[in-house]
Amino acid sequence: MASIHESTTLKISAMAKKLASEGLDIIDMGVGEPDFDTPKHIVEAGCNSIRNGETRYAPTAGIPDLRKAIADKLVRENSLYCSADDVSVTPGAKMAVFAAIQALLQEGDECVLIGPSWVSYEPCVAFAGATVSWGKVDENFNPVGLAEEITAKTKLIIVNSPSNPTGSVFSSRVLEEIRDLAVDHNLFVISDEIYEKIVYGNKHISIASLSGMEDRTVTINGFSKAYAMTGWRLGYLTGPKEVMKWVNRLLSHSVSQATTFVQRAGIAAIQGPQDEVNSMVEEFRARRDMLVIGLKDLGIPCKMPGGAFYLFPDVSHLGGGDVFTDRLLNEALIAATPGSAFGPDGVDYVRLSYATSQRRIKQALERIGKILS
Ligand code: PMP
Repeated sequence: MASIHESTTLKISAMAKKLASEGLDIIDMGVGEPDFDTPKHIVEAGCNSIRNGETRYAPTAGIPDLRKAIADKLVRENSLYCSADDVSVTPGAKMAVFAAIQALLQEGDECVLIGPSWVSYEPCVAFAGATVSWGKVDENFNPVGLAEEITAKTKLIIVNSPSNPTGSVFSSRVLEEIRDLAVDHNLFVISDEIYEKIVYGNKHISIASLSGMEDRTVTINGFSKAYAMTGWRLGYLTGPKEVMKWVNRLLSHSVSQATTFVQRAGIAAIQGPQDEVNSMVEEFRARRDMLVIGLKDLGIPCKMPGGAFYLFPDVSHLGGGDVFTDRLLNEALIAATPGSAFGPDGVDYVRLSYATSQRRIKQALERIGKILS
């Protein structure tokens, strides 16, 4: 446990909230959650479920109706072959990531992460007694030379497309290269697809749908980002039966299950109208464009990310990610996340979340302009 550090993103978010409660006008660009409300029909489904008395224990892997709704969605939208029996519901995708990693890795194993990666993967790997090897990426955050990271101890590659923190969306060519490596070296892949719906004209592809991947991929997703349900805590995973057996065993002795009435809300999210998801994505796109253009004008060029709601500009000419993040907070009252939180290849970068209004983004650009001039 002592080797596992506190989540930098949650720490920064708590710090920003504290400073704001002290009366400082903090612009929070550290957050990893949509600033939209959960759609009303989803809230209603959760409330109705409580009123109907669905307040008791449910099966560990989830209520049958939700498992079926998820399996249907995975077949329909992601071209996976799965049935309700192959799906387990978890309290948040984070628990799905944790459980899948514990099921797949043991002491001494190695796991490959592709460039700057979400803050919780490495601690979950460390918790299993395994270690991470950091795959290199090119300037578009696509993997390069991944084969060099594979050793006799490598068991797992984690894919996160669209990516937190880089916003990159892997093309089918990139996913096929990862597939070829996984097949050649008999590796498992965890595919964390929590940002799948937040893409800007790119097509999201589930790596498990590529031939040869069905029996070696654990696909993870959740409701936090697409349906603005971060506080509800609802996620899920599906994968090979022998892996899901261990996942369910771990869930049964830890969390027991995701909250029963929250699962009803999840069914409404999947089966209900999707127009609010689409309008949220359109708003994110407008913010992304505004921030990318504004930063470029300030001399901070940045790749136009294809998905998620983060920019990951290189700020090495401004002292690097840690120094610039400190300046942003202390001089501009902007909370952001230093790229170093996402692994050794992130040190030159800062992660800016645009899950905040266009008005606040405009203010943030003005403040950044001031400290740079
Ligand atoms: N994976 C990634 C890449 C994430 O960014 C997050 C949330 N920050 C999660 C998983 C976990 O999401 P949740 O537990 O809220 O479903």
